[in-house]
Amino acid sequence: MRIPKKLRKYALWLFIASAYPIYSNEIFATIQDVWPKIKTTEEAIRILNEEKSKLGIEVKVALAMDQEDKFKEINIGAFCGRNEEGYFIGIGKPSLSRFVIRHELYHLFRDGCKGFAPTIDYVVEKVREEERNPRIMDLVPFIKRKYLIEPRANIYALTGLKL
Ligand SMILES: [Zn+2]
Repeated sequence: MRIPKKLRKYALWLFIASAYPIYSNEIFATIQDVWPKIKTTEEAIRILNEEKSKLGIEVKVALAMDQEDKFKEINIGAFCGRNEEGYFIGIGKPSLSRFVIRHELYHLFRDGCKGFAPTIDYVVEKVREEERNPRIMDLVPFIKRKYLIEPRANIYALTGLKL
């Protein structure tokens, strides 16, 4: 089948646009990998407070470290959650960097971190459960996350642009 030249151009752009979460997330995953890592908890807390004030976040945000790196198994570096005590950022120890802290704080600033996520284990179990039983109604939030929420947080983490 021959596709008319004009249509081919549109098809190419459509492909580039529809695949953008894949390469955008890949590029940012690489950036995150090479970003200098934070060595100590004290340093992490100092950077967290610094970055909070840049965004004007006044609520308490705790750091929860995934020491055993369970996040790696479910393919995430960090998340932003809340429990009875307030907000917290869960981070896999090897991913601990200013980039990741900025990324997660931007979720809090822009998206509100509304999901109830009492502990790291809860999040790990929930992601595994979603992988075992994918539901069609999760598709819209999934697409929104891939196309909008994650790229937006990555752009802020890298450039400081609040989109
Ligand atoms: Zn994110």
